[in-house]
Amino acid sequence: MSKCKLCHKESRFVSQHLGFCLNCIREDFPKVKPFILEVHKKSARSLTFLYNLLKLKKGFLADSV
Ligand SMILES: [Zn+2]
Repeated sequence: MSKCKLCHKESRFVSQHLGFCLNCIREDFPKVKPFILEVHKKSARSLTFLYNLLKLKKGFLADSV
């Protein structure tokens, strides 16, 4: 299992790519956004992962990329 960088909980829902749990990505997106954008630059796979995860925020991500 991985540990979330934000809430420091260990969970199987923590993305190994991103280092954040689903809950933090959804609830604290402004905080995790800078890290996620950094990972985006390195891995197209995590971009796909995020699109699947944050379907509701697709518009936001499209703006950022
Ligand atoms: Zn978390």
